[in-house]
Amino acid sequence: MMENLTELFACKVFNDNVMKMRLPKETYKALQKTIKDGKHLDINIAHVVANSMKDWAIENGATHYTHWFQPMTGITAEKHDSFISPTDTSNIIMEFSGKELVKGESDASSFPSGGLRATFEARGYTAWDPTSYAFIKENTLCIPTAFCSYGGEALDKKTPLLRSMEAINRQALRVVRLFGNNDVTSIKITVGPEQEYFLVDKDMYDKRPDLLFTGRTLFGAMPPKGQELDDHYFGTIKSRVSAFMKELDRELWKLGILAKTEHNEASPAQHELAPIFTTVNIAADHNQLTMELMQRLAKKHNMVCLLHEKPFAGVNGSGKHNNWSICTNTGKNLLDPGETPYENAQFLLFLCSVIKAVDEYQDMLRVSVASAGNDHRLGGNEAPPAVMSIFLGEELTEILEAIEKDEDYDAKEKSIMRVGVHVLPKFPKDTTDRNRTSPFAFTGNKFEFRALGSMASVSGPNVVLNTSVAESLKQFADELENAENFDDALNRLIRKTIKKHKRILFSGNGYDDAWIAEAEARGLSNLKTTPDALPCYIAEKNIKLFTEHKVFTETEMHARYEINLENYTKIIGIEARTMLDMAKKDILPAVSSFVKTLCDTVISRKSAISEVPCTYEERLIRDLSELINRMYSDVSALDKELAKATQIGSDAQKLADYYKDVILSRMARVRESADKMETMTERKCWPYPTYEDLLFGVR
Ligand code: ADP
Ligand code: MG
Repeated sequence: MMENLTELFACKVFNDNVMKMRLPKETYKALQKTIKDGKHLDINIAHVVANSMKDWAIENGATHYTHWFQPMTGITAEKHDSFISPTDTSNIIMEFSGKELVKGESDASSFPSGGLRATFEARGYTAWDPTSYAFIKENTLCIPTAFCSYGGEALDKKTPLLRSMEAINRQALRVVRLFGNNDVTSIKITVGPEQEYFLVDKDMYDKRPDLLFTGRTLFGAMPPKGQELDDHYFGTIKSRVSAFMKELDRELWKLGILAKTEHNEASPAQHELAPIFTTVNIAADHNQLTMELMQRLAKKHNMVCLLHEKPFAGVNGSGKHNNWSICTNTGKNLLDPGETPYENAQFLLFLCSVIKAVDEYQDMLRVSVASAGNDHRLGGNEAPPAVMSIFLGEELTEILEAIEKDEDYDAKEKSIMRVGVHVLPKFPKDTTDRNRTSPFAFTGNKFEFRALGSMASVSGPNVVLNTSVAESLKQFADELENAENFDDALNRLIRKTIKKHKRILFSGNGYDDAWIAEAEARGLSNLKTTPDALPCYIAEKNIKLFTEHKVFTETEMHARYEINLENYTKIIGIEARTMLDMAKKDILPAVSSFVKTLCDTVISRKSAISEVPCTYEERLIRDLSELINRMYSDVSALDKELAKATQIGSDAQKLADYYKDVILSRMARVRESADKMETMTERKCWPYPTYEDLLFGVR
């Protein structure tokens, strides 16, 4: 039976259509105004909206409501309250007030705050973000909210994102006005995040403490076959996976999420989902929901969705490509080269604003994608390096070179290239999208930031992009608004910007060691790990940027620095303890028993026939015994080093550095011996499902 997809789409969303249908006209208008102008919602209007929202939710099977938000670590948080409200001892009514819609109290003490709440208030509150629609998940009405302390400090990822949208809106409006676009009243950032993930069989997953506790495998030898044949990418999708994807699509559509393409990725068991782009705060909400749904639905199909950036050593990890552009309320994509010389000049100026921003705030972009998990990918010849650079494609690079040198751009038409005088050629996607090694690529009419890890919220990187580009635009507007001759000033400004920031442009192979050396010569930063990158949060120039644009307060930046350091240390700590547990309780005993079996064989064989030597068994006994000893000594050392961490004190940076330098490298040694033993131990004696089982187990 053909299903009515248009009816299915967004059926669980309290969106514009529903509001139009269910709200009194006046209320609808007032709410629209709030949404458009970002004004405070009048409590009387909120009452009416809340009531209508509640009726709609109950009709659609909801019994509870929650303020749904994105704390600084973890995916999303929610606290469920039921609509039920007693009227007398035996009756109840379903209630939901405007106050409950607009503002929620939340005992925030268990969420990370980097000392923010201690300094201000013990409790935080959540506030409805009316630009992101409420929706029903399971039996709960979810209200997308921002999460703040009573002093107004952001305790979540959404608040700074909303602030950064305002910042770029303010500055971009000034710039488009200079080009005479007076009909434009607001400018939004659009984002389409492509999401990678792994699916493994749940029964196997359950037998791996490392996957359960850390999301990645801490041990595991490579199977005979990995991803070398490239046969998984775009290969046929296995029936269990395709059943999962089908259901995922349907559930996402019900939530109004435009899931568009689903396909296999490079590694075995790896897949990707791409949605159609939308406004950045909604894209961020949708991406969080997508990750949540992936994890929930996978379980229904007896699989587990791994969102970790590097669940398996030896095959590609998972990332998230953040496609980013700037769009006016009149529907014009400002990163799309236009039809007229003026549109082209405007495009070039916006392009330059991004080039300048990425160069000046490369450290902030780097830190926005830093996490313990992503450290395993960046620079690992599967993901872009930790060095930020921009790929523009051959044609655009040539145009910029010509502008910089004030030469004529001799395209096919043999015309002279002058900013504001000539029309640029269109850049078809296939000429711009070839370089997969670049962290930041121009792909025809948008930029694609490719260094994001699969698990992270897209909020952080977009906060940095929006704010740093807002700063470029602010400087541009300041300069051009006062210009005597706009065209000359524009030409000069574009040329000056290219000259000053061209070091960030790179078209070559980002995986090449030579590039890392060249990047250093160009003065680009190369922050290899999370603890190396995190101090960027408290660098003076960055605090200046974010406070001036009212995106973060200085206190909020310090808090983020602390939280991220602590989080890093905690993650590595959990990994190290899990590793010790597995090594001591499972792996060493298993190999030791296997050695005993071999010894028993030798003894009984020798008593049966003494003249034939037990070459295989004896060699294996010796090799495995040596490896057992080596692993045991590394395990003991790791134990001691973990204990020593408690003596470091409370300096979060020192602790994180210690976990990175000492604990992580010791863990690598423990793993090395274990993985070697795995290749020598009888299959049925190994205590865990292997990489082969995990990567090829879903059929
Ligand atoms: P594909 O990579 O599948 O050929 P695209 O390059 O068009 O397709 O899209 C990749 C991602 O970029 C999708 O999520 C898409 O919605 C998003 N995207 C396309 N245009 C824009 C834009 N103007 N702003 C933000 N994201 C966009
Ligand atoms: Mg892509």
